[in-house]
Amino acid sequence: MRVLGIETSCDETGVAIYDTDRGLLADALYSQIAMHAEYGGVVPELASRDHTRRLLPLIQQVLDDAGLARGELDAIAYTAGPGLVGALMVGASTAHGMARALDIPVLGVHHMEGHLMAPMLEASPPDFPFVALLVSGGHTQLVEVRGQGRYRLLGESVDDAAGEAFDKTAKMLGLAYPGGPQVAGLAESGDPKRFRFPRPMTDRPGLDFSFSGLKTHTLTTLRQLDQAGELDEQARADVARAFEEAVVDTLVIKCRRALDDTGLKRLVMAGGVSANARLRERLAHEAEKRGVRVYYPRGRFCTDNGAMIALAGARRLLAGERDALGQMKAVPRWPMETLAAPTGT
Ligand code: ATP
Ligand code: MG
Ligand code: FE
Repeated sequence: MRVLGIETSCDETGVAIYDTDRGLLADALYSQIAMHAEYGGVVPELASRDHTRRLLPLIQQVLDDAGLARGELDAIAYTAGPGLVGALMVGASTAHGMARALDIPVLGVHHMEGHLMAPMLEASPPDFPFVALLVSGGHTQLVEVRGQGRYRLLGESVDDAAGEAFDKTAKMLGLAYPGGPQVAGLAESGDPKRFRFPRPMTDRPGLDFSFSGLKTHTLTTLRQLDQAGELDEQARADVARAFEEAVVDTLVIKCRRALDDTGLKRLVMAGGVSANARLRERLAHEAEKRGVRVYYPRGRFCTDNGAMIALAGARRLLAGERDALGQMKAVPRWPMETLAAPTGT
């Protein structure tokens, strides 16, 4: 089955074609980052308008890249939520319109299920069950995954997401949006021993996270340095390093706990923050110690993309799942645990 995947939940327009027999045939992405950078974050109305501009040309591009005509598509999967409602509606309405015209099935897919399945686009995909660490701009979750749609939430952030904390810290350091790669870059030249930032909620049992206090701690440290006239380039790098160490350490501690609690031997990490090199390195090290195998998507599939939506949708479409005619879905808030397994699995 050849499935066109469409992702428009936030600030990237992602389109891909996934073949359930042959794998990924084509994948294209247009990032709006430069447009939003001027405002220091995503402006929802601008995002929707830009998806409208980019989506159809990108669909044509993946068809050309795959050497396919529209009529050779078997189904369409689009991101139905969670995300910015106006942005979601661009993808949803285009998907439904096209599916109607081509007379093929169409299905709204959960964005985080897409992230979670992204490692399955790689050469040695994980088998179920596994523990998933979902770390993105809007989510920080640990999930026990028994199969697609068989999710048990083990813990999540009670306030900011890890990616959001990176983005806010970047702003405080005067770095551009999105902040994750920028903070990580600056942290490279930082001294990990100069400051020690708190590891929030690690001193008590449980698998929830909290990152807003860490953000305040960063702000206070920067203010103190500034008042003392010590806020030079090295100090900024040292702060970036201390912040990154604290986030990574916190995520690693909770992953370790989740693996111990569930007894599972596979760990999947996905979402934008899973591109973080220090996090990957630390988790690889921890996993090796306890005989756990770690899986993650290639860099470009850590952040938003159409390929993960095509893949997650394809498995459900293959099982016969589809939206009712004309029932396009755009759900800004949509807890992943409410999903069910594809029919017949
Ligand atoms: P969600 O998926 O929760 O709706 P989103 O789609 O905006 O949110 P993603 O596109 O998955 O999130 O990831 C973007 C986030 O990842 C941003 O917050 C960005 O700063 C962060 N990020 C990207 N690369 C890195 C990195 N190397 N280190 C840390 N954070 C990173
Ligand atoms: Mg994004
Ligand atoms: Fe995302």
